[in-house]
Amino acid sequence: MPFCDMHTHTVFSFDGENFVSSLCSDALKENIRAVAMTEHMDFFDGRDYAYYGLFEENRYKAVLKARALYPSIEIFYGIELGQPHYDPLGTADFLKGRSFDIILGSIHDLRGGRTIYSLRCRDMKECDRIMEEYFYEMELMLEAFDFDVLAHLDYPARVFPCMGKEASLKRYDGLILPILEKCAGKGVALEINTAGTDKWLGRPGPDIWVLEAFKKAGGERVTMGSDSHRPGCCGRGFKEAESMLREAGLAGCLVYYKGRRALPWVI
Ligand SMILES: [Zn+2]
Ligand SMILES: [Zn+2]
Repeated sequence: MPFCDMHTHTVFSFDGENFVSSLCSDALKENIRAVAMTEHMDFFDGRDYAYYGLFEENRYKAVLKARALYPSIEIFYGIELGQPHYDPLGTADFLKGRSFDIILGSIHDLRGGRTIYSLRCRDMKECDRIMEEYFYEMELMLEAFDFDVLAHLDYPARVFPCMGKEASLKRYDGLILPILEKCAGKGVALEINTAGTDKWLGRPGPDIWVLEAFKKAGGERVTMGSDSHRPGCCGRGFKEAESMLREAGLAGCLVYYKGRRALPWVI
């Protein structure tokens, strides 16, 4: 059964190392028939992010070219917005006059310009403090801004090995459940992100119990995203993600986005 990958990056993201053409040929190899290019646009607390605007024209041209070269794949023009709630006016200004097929909402940075990816947790107490802040910002983002998909809910787990492989996010369920309820209430899709598959975590995230709790909260939309940044990563771990969705009773809730409308993807 073909899949859809609703979260990918290319050289048009500051941290992407994949050309659009190799992303598309990877997609074909992995039987991915719909791909959303969701390059980064982050709003930081205390500093600007200039990268997005620098390559905007080339980025869009590359998507048009890929659509012509790979007619058997549907290629969507999306964006991953980081911390849009840090700058509501800036976000509104950015979105004015631009149209996207899909908007992901993410938390990559904490207040004070602290990049989660670069933070080092020495012990669980430090980890707990960061997670408390992280989920607090995620909830604020959900309240303040309308986006389509909540990306990588367990992102810090991917970059904080101190949590331990089996520790899971259960420790933070009190912080996570209100987020899942807000997502379900607003019709925001929860992403199953497979980037952890080839990192220390060794599996897609978030945990099965999070997926089950999302369903219990009335969640009706999920997406699959590889968060691919390099060649060979598009569609990685999707079989495992499919099994997790089935186990959580969410396989019938898989969607993709076109023109910001959620459409069913049958697996
Ligand atoms: Zn991200
Ligand atoms: Zn991403």
